[in-house]
Amino acid sequence: DGHRVPVTVRTFPIRDADSNVVAAVEVFSDNRSTESFQNENKRLQELLITDELTQVYNRRYLDFQLKKHIEEADTFGNSFGVLFFDLDLFKNVNDTYGHNIGDKMLQLVSRTISKNVRSNDIFGRWGGEEFILVAKLDNKRQLKRFAEKLRILVEKSSIEIKPQEDLRVTVSVGGTIYEKDSEISDLIEKADKNMYNAKVNGRNKSIVE
Ligand code: GH3
Ligand code: MG
Ligand code: MG
Repeated sequence: DGHRVPVTVRTFPIRDADSNVVAAVEVFSDNRSTESFQNENKRLQELLITDELTQVYNRRYLDFQLKKHIEEADTFGNSFGVLFFDLDLFKNVNDTYGHNIGDKMLQLVSRTISKNVRSNDIFGRWGGEEFILVAKLDNKRQLKRFAEKLRILVEKSSIEIKPQEDLRVTVSVGGTIYEKDSEISDLIEKADKNMYNAKVNGRNKSIVE
């Protein structure tokens, strides 16, 4: 294509009947090994869909998956669940312990939830201290139970910020089940509204409606 690339050159002599070298064959091969190229590609793909701080999926990937889930649901007539998580009084954590500890708490919550969802559930950071789970669950009662389970797991998790001093955070969770002809924004709005009601109800609660 007119640009230069690094290559490996191998040269082979061509001899006549008396073993005189009469010509040579040069073989050029692309220097970059395919394997490392593939690894690099994979790594770049991961970067594109991963939130740097928490190492869970980023908003771009959540958006992509929400779209995909909606298309699938409309094609096959099934449904799925969405949970919206918002850390409680998180500003206090930053103000009291500093942004660094705040970041560690975001990582803790991410780890706690991502390690406790099923392999085909999609959990990611929506932004700031807000997270979304797209769950292969189309039953409200089951989604409610799942939301409670995750809320409690977060409540019970902590990190040691100083010897003998553990810090924990809680989350408020709002959930909803996809209904035909909803858009991403409708889904998020509903889940967010339920999350907000969980806050109004005292925080560290989950509401799935
Ligand atoms: P509420 O229970 O009503 O949600 O209270 P809150 O304090 O969590 O709510 P608010 O929206 O007022 O504050 C969210 C805070 O989250 C403010 C911001 O400093 C913090 N935050 C957002 N993103 C990050 C981040 O990447 N790292 C850290 N350390 N803090 C963040
Ligand atoms: Mg928030
Ligand atoms: Mg908050």
